[in-house]
Amino acid sequence: MDARREIWVFGDWRNYFQNRVTLQLLAKARQLAQPSGARVCALVFGQGLDEWVMEYTAHGADRLYVCDHPRLEGYPMQAFTGLLVDLAQKRQPQVILVGATSFGKELAARAAKRLGVGLTADCVELALDDHGRLVQTAPAFGGNLLAEIVSTGEPQMATVRPGAFQELPHDYVRTAEVVRLEPPAKLPDERLRLIESRRLPARQQELENAAVVVVGGRGLGSKKKFKNLHELARLLGGEVGATRPVVHSQWAGHEALVGQAGRQVKPKLLISLGVSGAIQHTAGINADFIVAVNKNPNAVMMQMADVGIVADANQTCLALIRELKDRLRG
Ligand SMILES: Cc1cc2nc3c(=O)[nH]c(=O)nc-3n(C[C@H](O)[C@H](O)[C@H](O)COP(=O)(O)OP(=O)(O)OC[C@H]3O[C@@H](n4cnc5c(N)ncnc54)[C@H](O)[C@@H]3O)c2cc1C
Repeated sequence: MDARREIWVFGDWRNYFQNRVTLQLLAKARQLAQPSGARVCALVFGQGLDEWVMEYTAHGADRLYVCDHPRLEGYPMQAFTGLLVDLAQKRQPQVILVGATSFGKELAARAAKRLGVGLTADCVELALDDHGRLVQTAPAFGGNLLAEIVSTGEPQMATVRPGAFQELPHDYVRTAEVVRLEPPAKLPDERLRLIESRRLPARQQELENAAVVVVGGRGLGSKKKFKNLHELARLLGGEVGATRPVVHSQWAGHEALVGQAGRQVKPKLLISLGVSGAIQHTAGINADFIVAVNKNPNAVMMQMADVGIVADANQTCLALIRELKDRLRG
């Protein structure tokens, strides 16, 4: 077998233009591979895969393991698990990274069990130490701290939160080796059959990729006041996020939840209104610039912010809306 070590990324190509987690993982895998010269590989299973092969090449894969077959239509979980496990047993990769989508989480858990290796779920950071061990940072103890986890044995497997890393720019001149795989003669009988799949409304998918995110917390006081955030976000060309109490009070839907149990955002600008800054919430934030508004100057969110405004969150939101409208008119 080829002596060069491999870092694998599972290619979750469904809903490609909204779900960028595979591209984010390819970028991270490139970074991990750089010191040792390991090869970055993408696994691409399904039917009609040429487009994704080109995309993953342009985004950092050196080699692609491709199994393109009509029997793999509809993302059959058991067949994908079997392919991944067989290939891993043959090629013995150093690391396998899977996006923490609902499909990815299930696939990785099944594969790790069959390979008899550990799996760290929902990682937000990854590094390789000097011994080639994958240091996997993930929320632990109900999200009260971030733990660094190292698994013994190989492959070292992790699922990674969408939005934790930045994808590389599309490089049209990159080339990669394509290894075509035959599906096994007999695929397992799927216990689950896909009957129908429907896209989420586009806006619900945009929070993770938004350049501006306006997040509201319990400090806003009511559903009616929370609604003003939509106007502010609209004027800024951004999206609205929420904390857990806000979602529990049904001021916003679960798709707006930012944090450990929700979405990972990485905007250029995040405006946080009436949010205390609990670690379960801030674990979902990777923003270039944060403006926080809180009555309490000592709130964690205020400490974390680039600009902290000690004021009433709702009044500040309305003042910002007025100011932006004036500027747009003028
Ligand atoms: C396992 C687990 C997972 C969790 N996952 C998540 C998650 O994914 N996302 C998440 O958000 N939370 C999560 N939580 C909950 C989290 O611990 C916090 O309880 C939550 O983030 C707090 O939300 P908040 O800041 O809106 O409310 P609070 O903590 O109540 O903070 C309200 C803030 O508003 C300020 N305030 C009050 N009135 C005003 C006013 N008029 N103007 C300005 N400021 C004002 C207060 O000073 C305070 O700082 C999780 C908890 C657990 C245990």
